[in-house]
Amino acid sequence: MESQTHYLNNDEELRVEVKLGTVVTATLVDGAAEIFGAELPKKTPTTLPGGKHAIFSWRGATIEIAGETEMTYTANASAPMTAYLNVDGVLQRRREAARAAGTPGPRVALVGPTDVGKSSVAKILCNYAQARWTPTFSDLDLGQGGITCPATIGAVPIDRPIDACEGLPLEMPLVYFHGDVSPGNNPTLYKALDRMGEMLRARDETNAAAAASGVVVNTMGWIDKAGYGLLLHALEALAIDVVLVVDHEKLHAELSRDLRGKKIKVWKLQKSGGVVERTPEFRRRSRDARVREYFYGPLGDLSPHSQTLEFGKVSIFKIGAGPSAPRSALPIGQESSADPLRVSTVAPSMSLLNAVLGVSHGKTQAELLSSNVAGFIFVTDVDVANGRFTYLTPCPGELPSRNLIAGTLKWIETR
Ligand code: ADP
Repeated sequence: MESQTHYLNNDEELRVEVKLGTVVTATLVDGAAEIFGAELPKKTPTTLPGGKHAIFSWRGATIEIAGETEMTYTANASAPMTAYLNVDGVLQRRREAARAAGTPGPRVALVGPTDVGKSSVAKILCNYAQARWTPTFSDLDLGQGGITCPATIGAVPIDRPIDACEGLPLEMPLVYFHGDVSPGNNPTLYKALDRMGEMLRARDETNAAAAASGVVVNTMGWIDKAGYGLLLHALEALAIDVVLVVDHEKLHAELSRDLRGKKIKVWKLQKSGGVVERTPEFRRRSRDARVREYFYGPLGDLSPHSQTLEFGKVSIFKIGAGPSAPRSALPIGQESSADPLRVSTVAPSMSLLNAVLGVSHGKTQAELLSSNVAGFIFVTDVDVANGRFTYLTPCPGELPSRNLIAGTLKWIETR
């Protein structure tokens, strides 16, 4: 296998672009380096899956990359990384103060347009914090599926470094299925993220260590017009008290104005020169890759189970107008008359083919809106004549709940 040795000086970063669906490995031969804040182990290959990666060194390092990359280059990243480290220092002091006073720790949100490195900075801050604390990472960006599948929002405690390949520790994820990869078709449902804020607050009341560790939230990149309203709503719902605006002067000014007098700090943060802009096509493919990863594992080496079930054994619901009538399909200026939070049943039909369905923890129809999901299944066949369907699931055996939620999220399985 092709391998290259790279020498990093102080404050330099090796940026590695790996084709989706392939992997390379990075080995720290000498010195010290980190991937988005997670220390690279010495002399042990770390798998880097398809995507864009940054290996940063404060003191210099020798890195060996094995496998074929799309692009590899070295650059100085002193300014942004020092800024992120300084933010970490401020947050650590706030955590100490919170622990001493028995109050919640910092609740930080990364905001800004798409592709400025929000989720990467959120990861860096969680990785720096997890050595002494258990911060909660929360992702509100429906598009990329930062926690499990796309079309979700969620939160997860970070009690160990975030692995470059495995991703977030997922023993205890709190995941809500929105059903669509953008909030625009049902912003009212997106606002239902209030329930996640309530869950996190309830947890803080019983878990002082988690409370003092605080929350780091990655928000979505839709920051104008209705998107800005949703962002303000999210900041309030999650009781954010530190807003880090990445690379957007106007948004910084707007938030400083609109959050004045609310005991919320609004700081500017610079974008790293390494952040890569992703085309809509790349985003779509990385979303598909996330769904594939959910069922087949990050390295594609897990075997999901195929099961067939009668439609009568489950109830499939949609929320709001559901898959059939997106807002964009209505005449301009006309609002859908349907209640955006109405929960209704979905009749068995071929439209469920290739759908990714959320398996809700909600026990009744009324509970579905406020309930998180246990996981997802993928519908691979619909046999309407015989009233049954076949699906893939990562876990064998009976579904943890018979209540399934359908949105617009679909996946076409390709090898
Ligand atoms: P956002 O959350 O603002 O949309 P991301 O954090 O997802 O942005 O970053 C966009 C892309 O750039 C991602 O693929 C990420 O892995 C990559 N990236 C971020 N920071 C760096 C860096 N310093 N060097 C190389 N790639 C980076």
